Amino acid sequence: MSILDLARPEIRGLQAYSSARTEAAMAEVMLNANESAWPPAGVPMPLHGRSLNRYPDPQPRDLLARLAELYSVDESRILMGRGSDEAIDLLIRAFRRPGMDAIAIAPPTFGMYSVCAAIQGAKCIQVPLDRRFELDVDVLLEKLPASLKVVFLCSPNNPTGGLISHASIGRIATALHERALVIVDEAYIEFANAPSATVLLGRHENLGILRTLSKAWGLAGARVGCLLADSEVISLLRRIMPPYPLPTPSIVAALAALNAEGLELTRQRIGLVVSERERLAAALVRLPSVVEVLPSQANFLCVRFDDAARVQRSLQRDGVIVRDVGRHPRLEGYLRITVGSREENSRLLEALVRQEVSG
Ligand code: PMP
Repeated sequence: MSILDLARPEIRGLQAYSSARTEAAMAEVMLNANESAWPPAGVPMPLHGRSLNRYPDPQPRDLLARLAELYSVDESRILMGRGSDEAIDLLIRAFRRPGMDAIAIAPPTFGMYSVCAAIQGAKCIQVPLDRRFELDVDVLLEKLPASLKVVFLCSPNNPTGGLISHASIGRIATALHERALVIVDEAYIEFANAPSATVLLGRHENLGILRTLSKAWGLAGARVGCLLADSEVISLLRRIMPPYPLPTPSIVAALAALNAEGLELTRQRIGLVVSERERLAAALVRLPSVVEVLPSQANFLCVRFDDAARVQRSLQRDGVIVRDVGRHPRLEGYLRITVGSREENSRLLEALVRQEVSG
């Protein structure tokens, strides 16, 4: 059986749109794509040798090569898109038959999996994390029906911050072999004290990993993320993806962030975020208004306050915004606090201490 047998038959048989940029290489005279012959007014040109009046390479080779090196996977296993959000949507569209198949998630977790499922009319099976916000693999496997096509696991999990072990991921992928795709969202893995599950890719053809440049790499505004998966899955998704997913300025920004200097700076910043996360957690647990700080392997802390609404309002008056995650199951009373720069974190702590004194 091929992994593609799990995909929707009409997508497998789809005659993909063929774009001008994929049909022909660049040449001196480019008259094949109905582009303008002139660069746009007011834009400093060229952008690292790339003209904005030309459509970008759909999967730019230089960026693909850098990401393959960064993630230690073969280029054929990478699909680059507009953030990892795009891959979530593409996976559900390609693998789930309308009105028939389901996806599964382990709440409380990142909201886009269920939103993409709802947009496409897919049933979303919810297998809640246990009392310590960890994944119970036995419960998950028990609850998954035959109609399941994709399970999304988030590690470290947003918004609770916990990791899923490689042993658990391997067990789930093995149990769902020839049945469903297992997608591990590693948007925050750079901040974790554990390696990426990409090392498991060669062992499980139904495994996929989501990575993004939006978090550790500071490129949320450029919208660059990837799916790492079996090369047949990647080719299938490329067929349903719009022709030019990555804007040229985003490609240029990503290449700049991933050069040797960028790598070094990013490594330092990850170290800083991790040490600040621990400093923040230690300071928060000492505050009387804090009930619990969940252990986090990400660049945020999920914190339970005795009166989260009051804390959030008062922080806002002090110019500090944090996220209320109380709408998630079992997270009533919790706020998610992103780890910022040292100065920003100190400002947060000072504001919280002031509240304790005045409140
Ligand atoms: N996965 C998780 C767990 C996230 O928290 C986010 C963004 N908050 C994303 C994916 C999407 O990231 P992006 O589209 O910027 O790559």
